[in-house]
Amino acid sequence: MTKKFTIAEIQNQSAFEQKYRYTEKIGDYAEGKIRQRKYVVENLCTDFSDKKATTLALRILNCTGRHPCNNPFCPKCRHAQQELFAQSMIENFGNVDADKLRFLTILHEVHYNSADINLTLIKKLKKKLDNDLDKLQLFADENIRLLGAYEIHAIAADEKLSDRKVNTLSALGYDKDKKSPSFLLHFHAVICMPKFKNEKYDIEGELRKIYQNSYQVDFTKLRDDKSHTDNLHDIATYMLKFRLQHSVSVASDDNSKQFTRTQYSTLYSPIIAKSVVMAVESCNGFQGLKTRRYT
Ligand SMILES: [Zn+2]
Ligand SMILES: [Zn+2]
Repeated sequence: MTKKFTIAEIQNQSAFEQKYRYTEKIGDYAEGKIRQRKYVVENLCTDFSDKKATTLALRILNCTGRHPCNNPFCPKCRHAQQELFAQSMIENFGNVDADKLRFLTILHEVHYNSADINLTLIKKLKKKLDNDLDKLQLFADENIRLLGAYEIHAIAADEKLSDRKVNTLSALGYDKDKKSPSFLLHFHAVICMPKFKNEKYDIEGELRKIYQNSYQVDFTKLRDDKSHTDNLHDIATYMLKFRLQHSVSVASDDNSKQFTRTQYSTLYSPIIAKSVVMAVESCNGFQGLKTRRYT
C-alpha cells in the first residue's frame, strides 16, 4: 500500500526527502520520469495559497496504478495514454496506404492569458473543424477521417522567433513587442486524404481557404524511413507529448521537421510550466484535447 501524501508534507520536506518520495512512486523508476513528476509537482506548489494548483499537485503525486491521476503531466499516465492512442492510430490507419495520409497541423490562436485556453474554447474549435469538414464531406467520395489532439505550446517572453514565425503568429494574436510569455494553441492530426468527385477539390486547398493566414495550415507527408506502424506509433506519441520544454522547432522555419526532429532546449520557467499545466487541466486533459472523426 503506497502512502498518500498531504500538502503539509510537501511544504515541509527537505529537498532530499522530496526526491526520495518521488523515487518511491510506483512506475517512475526511470530517472527522467522521476524528474518530470518532481518538476510538475514543484511548479504547481510555488504558491501554497493556490488551492486549485496544490490540489492538482497532490493528485499527481498520489497517482497509483489502482487510482491513476490521469493527468497528462504525470509520466506514468501519459505513457499509458500515449500507448492507447498509438494503438488506436494503428487500428485506424495501419491499413491505409501512407500516400493517402498526412500529418496535419493547424495553428489556432496565441493567448497571453493562459486561462483563456479552456474547454469552452477547445469545444468551439472542434465544432468549427467538424462543421467545415461536414461541408467538404458533401463533395467527397469517402469519409474524411482524422485522429488528433490540440496542444498548447508556450513561447517565452524573450524567445527568438524567425521573421516568418513572427509573421505567422502575429496574425493569430502574437505581439513581438509584448514582453511577456504567450501560449500558442494548435492542433495536430493524422488525416486520411479523401477522393473528391470533382477534381478541382482537394482537402489541403479547401482547409487553406478556411484557415487563411500564411503557414497556418501544414500538411506533411509521412516519413518513409521507418515502418508504417512505427511511424503511426511515433506520431501518436508525439501528439500527446505534453512536454514542459521549449522546442527549437517553434523557432524554426521548417514545419515539416516538427514531428520528425523536434529538439528540446530549456525547461519552461516555473510560472510558464504552471500556466500550461493548469490550462491543460481546464481543457479536461486527454479527453478534452483529443479529437476524432470517423475513427
Ligand atoms: Zn498519474
Ligand atoms: Zn505541436
